Amino acid sequence: MIVGIDDTDSRKGMCTTYLCAVLVDELKNYGEVSTPRLVRLNPCIPFKTRGNGAVSFEISIEKEEEVKEEVKARVRELSELNEEGTNPGVVFIGDRVLNTISVKDEERLKYFYETAVREVLTLEDAYAIITDLQLDYFGLKNKRGLIGALAAVSFFVLQRNKPDYYDCTYELIAYRKKDNRGKARVIDETSVWDADTATYPLTWDTVDAANNKIVFAPHSPCPVLFGIRGDSVDAIYKAYGLIHAEPEERKMLFITNQGTDFHLIPLDVATKEKMQDYHSYVLDGMVCSNPRTIEGGHVVFSISLSDSGTIECIAYEPTKGFRTIIRKLRVGDAVRVYGSQKNETLNLEKIDIMELNQVEEKNPRCDKCGRSMESAGRLQGYRCKRCGTYRADKAVVTVDRVLEKGLYEAPPVARRHLSKPLVRMFEANKKIHPSR
Ligand SMILES: [Zn+2]
Repeated sequence: MIVGIDDTDSRKGMCTTYLCAVLVDELKNYGEVSTPRLVRLNPCIPFKTRGNGAVSFEISIEKEEEVKEEVKARVRELSELNEEGTNPGVVFIGDRVLNTISVKDEERLKYFYETAVREVLTLEDAYAIITDLQLDYFGLKNKRGLIGALAAVSFFVLQRNKPDYYDCTYELIAYRKKDNRGKARVIDETSVWDADTATYPLTWDTVDAANNKIVFAPHSPCPVLFGIRGDSVDAIYKAYGLIHAEPEERKMLFITNQGTDFHLIPLDVATKEKMQDYHSYVLDGMVCSNPRTIEGGHVVFSISLSDSGTIECIAYEPTKGFRTIIRKLRVGDAVRVYGSQKNETLNLEKIDIMELNQVEEKNPRCDKCGRSMESAGRLQGYRCKRCGTYRADKAVVTVDRVLEKGLYEAPPVARRHLSKPLVRMFEANKKIHPSR
């Protein structure tokens, strides 16, 4: 049986991954439990809780009912039910359904998962599948969490049947003892830097080297002590072994869609007329307004899209040094941008600078006396004021650019869970400039 859970947490306290870790540990008394999945959903959805993450795991048992009761009891007990925005949902896919699932139903689950990460789903969308596939479920309050819970079980089913279908990464999360929650986290920072040095780039986003910050531990009162992310389970445990910190209550390894860019709607699908807020895109375009810094330190510029129309792009102040790269763009540069659309503006997560415009048109210099010539009127060419020499065209000069072509990214301090770090991007003939 596969169990999916979502929306048990709040901004202030609990964390759905903790509830999952408790359940996975407890349910080992009933039967074999899989490595749980941590599925990040559309990061732009306005009513999300902190990280918009849902969880799922598989348990091999015959007595499904007993386990379901245990899961429901834990969800009732550990959910932050007093918080307005917390609306837990649990979805079960029993072995009877799993063993007889049709290709068509599997396609529906695939579509549901992918849509939950890239678009906006309603509770009705979730109920439609739950009803048609005759899935058991459980929810509290308005049950909004059923959307994420169904997405998390869908991801599990897909991965279970086709292990290489989706790109995935790992996160090992350590949880605090109850008495320590709410107090400052005790973590030996030097050991964290050492652990990072010993295992990067197989682990990533533990620290932000450029900004000299440790980024793998939250600052909220939630039970998470820290999380180590990476592509290699061995490297993650090696890093874990090197870190000195307060004693933990438990730890749990998750297989996740973090760091995969799965939220980005691909180039061939995104067209200007279809683009909407709360969706994330990869877009090709030509810089059509030079970057400028606005109030708050954000940097904005516009691109004209290859199909039609223009869109404004923004590198927010928290992206720090990334803005230095963005400020060096110039009208005419060809770029591929990666980010989320909000208020009709693309919030940049990454940029691929594909071609630099090295051409500049200037008023020509006079061949005879060397003075800068002046425009003789619109479309009238240029004339030297001193000696009257005439020239039809502007002078074209080549400008040196300090910017290098290739891929650049927002640093770990500003990175979304789903954004793929450049250390994970391997593109032929493409220079990558990781933020460290
Ligand atoms: Zn002249």
